[in-house]
Amino acid sequence: MFSKVLIANRGEIAVRIIAACRELGIATVAVHSAADRECLHARLADETVCIGPAESTGSYLNISSVMSAAQITGADAIHPGYGFLAENARFAEIVHECGLTFIGPPPEAIRLMGNKSQARRSVAASEVPILPGSDGPLGSSAEALELAAAIGYPVILKASAGGGGRGMRLAWDESELQRAYDTAWNEAERAFGDPTLYLEKYLESPRHVEFQILADRQGRVIHLGERECSVQRRHQKLIEESPSPALGPELRAEMGKAAVAAARAARYENAGTVEFLLDREGRFYFMEMNTRIQVEHPVTELVTGVDLVKEQLRIAAGKPVSMAKRTQVRPHGHAIEFRINAEDPRTFAPSPGRVSHLVMPGGPGVRVDSHLYAGYTVPPNYDSLVAKLLVHGRDRHEALVRGRRALAMLRVEGISTNAEMHQRILEDEDFQAGRIDTHFMERFLTA
Ligand code: ADP
Repeated sequence: MFSKVLIANRGEIAVRIIAACRELGIATVAVHSAADRECLHARLADETVCIGPAESTGSYLNISSVMSAAQITGADAIHPGYGFLAENARFAEIVHECGLTFIGPPPEAIRLMGNKSQARRSVAASEVPILPGSDGPLGSSAEALELAAAIGYPVILKASAGGGGRGMRLAWDESELQRAYDTAWNEAERAFGDPTLYLEKYLESPRHVEFQILADRQGRVIHLGERECSVQRRHQKLIEESPSPALGPELRAEMGKAAVAAARAARYENAGTVEFLLDREGRFYFMEMNTRIQVEHPVTELVTGVDLVKEQLRIAAGKPVSMAKRTQVRPHGHAIEFRINAEDPRTFAPSPGRVSHLVMPGGPGVRVDSHLYAGYTVPPNYDSLVAKLLVHGRDRHEALVRGRRALAMLRVEGISTNAEMHQRILEDEDFQAGRIDTHFMERFLTA
């Protein structure tokens, strides 16, 4: 096992990784920007190194600063968390070239899955269902128009290098697609430095259902069930739960098998997530694979009892996944995660500032992953996620009741959060009945 791990991240996920390292007896190095001196991850780690200015391009995204910090502290592995450098194949390569271990998949798997049109092609070759669409990147708008006429509107244009819900354009007819093509091309070039686009059929009211997988160097690939992530605003997930109210044992087995096949197609190693869209008829389609630990990973941890970050560390150290067979993972009960963002509840604009008073909920079936503490100042420079409130119950009903109770116990003063919105979602009849799709929030916010 590693003796010292550097965490190339900040906030709640850095704190989460420190927790896993502590339990495994591994020393930790936190890196932080000038704006994050007081951030909890920098206070909790065994060693800390300031790696640059508040702007993440000069700090958390600055590969040479991160690598220097690893060298001077003598770390033997780097955990990238999610976001920042987590899906940067070049970074993973550099870590290996410097003689350290990257806690994540091989660079080739990151590169393959990071190019979404290539990913589509490679999983389709392994008989994983994909939506009708382009076979590889589009050459021109004429090609897009021809293809759309063949598969039928609506269609969605996506940036091959896209992510984080950005770089997607919907088109309902030819003239829309013609216009969308140039806009999307320019947007993708600016946002990702790669203008390549691909196209697929747009599903009108799908569910987002993703599968957690673990793959080790010994060649074992297992899935740990699904997470339903249909409650999203602007393609950003807000609430995730497991099991999905839409899946029965047969569909779960079928989708799980496809998820494992997708991971095998990429010669995947470590923890990853295969995302699918599920239509009303129970047909599912591969959307993309995220080659990192996800924000919502604790949902799976609560229902399976598996510590996914410890598994990541074990796998990166060359050890096999600790549950050899799928049958050894027995999900129980129901878990729900509420993402608590520091934002104005009306405008959704970020709400940074000083936390003057804080009460975190606890009690049976409650977990909070957060870097907040009373007196902490949330800087304006980063993502607005400040806490993940999770509940676990014997069934969905108990989880919903716990969610209501735990959200009511949460007190964050000094900054605004979306906690109250989660309470209102819990009162929604459709949400209570599990009648959700990716447009749930649009309906909820206009109701
Ligand atoms: P990103 O990597 O940017 O998050 P994804 O490909 O995962 O992008 O898509 C994000 C969200 O966009 C999905 O959860 C879904 O709500 C919507 N979406 C993507 N592709 C389609 C599609 N073909 N039809 C309908 N909705 C889609």
